[in-house]
Amino acid sequence: MSDVLSLCYHAVSDRWPAGFAVSADQIERQVSGLLERGYVGSTFSAAVLDPPAQRTLTITFDDAYRSVFEEARPVLEPLGVPATVFVPTALVGSERPMAWPGTDHWLGSAHEAELTPMSWDELGELHALGWEIGSHTRTHPHLPAIDAEAMRDELEGSRSDLAERLGEPCTSIAYPYGDWNDEVVAASRRAGFSAGGALAGRVRRPDAMLWPRVGVYGKDGPARFRVKASPAMRRLRRTGLWRARFLLRRLR
Ligand SMILES: [Zn+2]
Repeated sequence: MSDVLSLCYHAVSDRWPAGFAVSADQIERQVSGLLERGYVGSTFSAAVLDPPAQRTLTITFDDAYRSVFEEARPVLEPLGVPATVFVPTALVGSERPMAWPGTDHWLGSAHEAELTPMSWDELGELHALGWEIGSHTRTHPHLPAIDAEAMRDELEGSRSDLAERLGEPCTSIAYPYGDWNDEVVAASRRAGFSAGGALAGRVRRPDAMLWPRVGVYGKDGPARFRVKASPAMRRLRRTGLWRARFLLRRLR
């Protein structure tokens, strides 16, 4: 059985003290380390539906911050690794800072500009480079908390926004906040998605619609990252979550 390692990043910045921002240097070191260990880069859908290698690496970015285009693309391009961006389709292209509970305290701060999403042209450029552009719904809600009709609009709507903008059907979705339940997964399938990104530590039985991605954060130093990315720790997070949390807490 092949090992599919999926990393979940958000913003890319060495100036923004947000927990979910990592520096371009961090990404470069983390990804080159994995390539040296024999991982082969792939887009998210390909990785979870039909992994191209024994050790497959898929790098994903949630929320489509502009810093992914400006900071991550220049380090990933020379490494020859295509990434996947999960886009809240009603919010990108607006040039207005995106915010929701958990990030809205940056509005009005000196770092507000970090919340700016990519434009559709920038997403088109990444797509032309071989990156996958997937859905992160239309407006980034907690999907389990909204009614069936709103859920359908978020899922089907974002999928058709992407098809219209990129001229190609969209196959993948990342559930905002890593939040899902059985109904969310079933509704995503009905909306036409065949690959779904969740977060490690919240998935016991991975499948293509519920793939546990390893969230990577600014505080993850080399040792902590190596352990988080290891097959043993990923297994432990599926079966012995508390032990995994205890071990991770001790690492930098
Ligand atoms: Zn998100």
